[in-house]
Amino acid sequence: MSSEKISKPARGKVTIDVEECKGCGLCIESCPPKCLELAPELSHYGVHPARYTGEDCTGCGICFYCCPEPGAIRVYRLAHATVPPTAATGGEHAAAV
Ligand code: SF4
Ligand code: SF4
Repeated sequence: MSSEKISKPARGKVTIDVEECKGCGLCIESCPPKCLELAPELSHYGVHPARYTGEDCTGCGICFYCCPEPGAIRVYRLAHATVPPTAATGGEHAAAV
């Protein structure tokens, strides 16, 4: 049996401003899919800032609400293209792209 991870389109994305992050780790503890971590390098505050691992963010926003630093975290919910319209799904009414 294969143990390969089934890749799904990302539902969210998060960015962290290292100039605002104080490295408290609350976002890392609160993230359900555990897709945040502390960077190994130090910021100019002398702390390890949080960073996104680059995968599995769901866009839930929990990290945003946990963070005590206004503006440190931005969460994006990603929109995905819907199934291409077909005759059976009323494709004749689909908007031109
Ligand atoms: S939005 Fe949710 S899933 Fe994404 S990094 Fe924040 S807590 Fe984790
Ligand atoms: S909760 Fe905010 S301040 Fe704390 S590590 Fe995460 S981004 Fe940085």
